[in-house]
Amino acid sequence: MALLITDECINCDVCEPECPNQAISMGAEFYEIDPAKCTECVGHFDEPQCVQVCPVSCIPVNPAHVETRMTLWQKYQGLQRAAGLAEADIKPVPADLPADLPADS
Ligand code: SF4
Ligand code: SF4
Repeated sequence: MALLITDECINCDVCEPECPNQAISMGAEFYEIDPAKCTECVGHFDEPQCVQVCPVSCIPVNPAHVETRMTLWQKYQGLQRAAGLAEADIKPVPADLPADLPADS
């Protein structure tokens, strides 16, 4: 799943620069996550970086964007291609990754 920032956000600005996908931006009242860009940090880190740094723990999973881990890997690859990276510089999907593994596994 993509993640979601709730209205408990205190606009501390800490998470935005940590996102490897530039998925976080300031919204009308508090920060927002673009679900089309959030891979739960798959492809970059073992854990969601925004969740790691948020001081008020206001970044749960987004139930409106249920995705498998495979889908998150494919989203990561698509974002990298869109950014102009060469294929050789884009990490491959792990060979043993089940197609239906939930994102939070
Ligand atoms: Fe960005 Fe990772 Fe947070 Fe998603 S989980 S918004 S990719 S830092
Ligand atoms: Fe809001 Fe948490 Fe991001 Fe700070 S780290 S801006 S509180 S979501």
